[in-house]
Amino acid sequence: MPLPVVFLSHGSPMHALEAGAAGAAWAALGRRLGRPRALLIASAHWETARPTLGGAAQPATIHDFYGFPQALYEIRYPAPGAPEVARRARALLEENRIDVEIDEARGLDHGAWAPLLYAWPQADVPVVQVSVQPARGPRHHLALGRALAPLAREDVLIVGSGHLTHNLRELRSVRETGVGPAEPYVDEFQEWVRECIGTHDLDRLCGYRRLSEGGARAHPTEEHFLPLFVALGAAAPDYQSERLIAHVEGGVLAMDAYLFAPPA
Ligand code: ZN
Repeated sequence: MPLPVVFLSHGSPMHALEAGAAGAAWAALGRRLGRPRALLIASAHWETARPTLGGAAQPATIHDFYGFPQALYEIRYPAPGAPEVARRARALLEENRIDVEIDEARGLDHGAWAPLLYAWPQADVPVVQVSVQPARGPRHHLALGRALAPLAREDVLIVGSGHLTHNLRELRSVRETGVGPAEPYVDEFQEWVRECIGTHDLDRLCGYRRLSEGGARAHPTEEHFLPLFVALGAAAPDYQSERLIAHVEGGVLAMDAYLFAPPA
C-alpha cells in the first residue's frame, strides 16, 4: 500500500513562532503519519527553470524572508537530507523524460521547515526538496508528481507545500497567524477547488485561471498553487481526499491542507 500524499498551505513564517490552529493541525498530521523513510517536498519557495532536487546530506535552514522578528532567523530545522532519495527521484523523472538536476548545496526553505517544525518536531525524518517551475504551469507539475509517485510505495511521503490562495498584495499583515474572516472570493475559490478535488476533475483544476471566478485573483503568480498539482499527480488516481485544514488567515490566505489517501 503506498503512503498517502499531502498538500499543505504553509502560511506566514510567523507560524514558526506562533503555532496557531495550523501548527496544531500540522502536529496532528505528523502524529497520524508516523515516521516515513523520508519526506519529498515540492515547495513554492524554490523556483527554477528546470526541475531540481536538493541533494545535500545535511541541508542548511534557509531564512528566505525579510522584516520578521530576530527570533525567527535563529530557528534551525536540522533534519538530515536523503541524497539516495534525491538520486532515486532523479532516475524516476528521467525515465519520464523530465529533464532534472540535483543541487548538492540547496538547504530547506520555510515552505518546508515551518510546517515540519510541528509535524516532525524531532527533525529526525530526512527531507529532500524539489523545486517548482512557474513558467511551466499546472500540467507540468501534475506530470512531475506522476513521475515521482512510485516513491510513495517506497515509504517516502510526498508533500506539496504552497497555498490554496496567495494574494499578498491584499494581505493585511504578513505576520498574521490567527483564524479570521475571509474575503468572499477566497471562500468561493476554496470551495471550487474542493469540488474539483472531490470529483477528481484535475483537467478543470488545471484551468483554474479561466474556469474559476477567483483563481487569477487568488494567485497573481502561480508558484504557490503549483505544489498542489505535484501532490495530486503523485496521489493514486482514485485517491480519497480529506481536507484537514480549511481556515483563512489575514483575510486572504486560505490555509487548506489535504490528505490524498489510496483507496481502502
Ligand atoms: Zn509561501
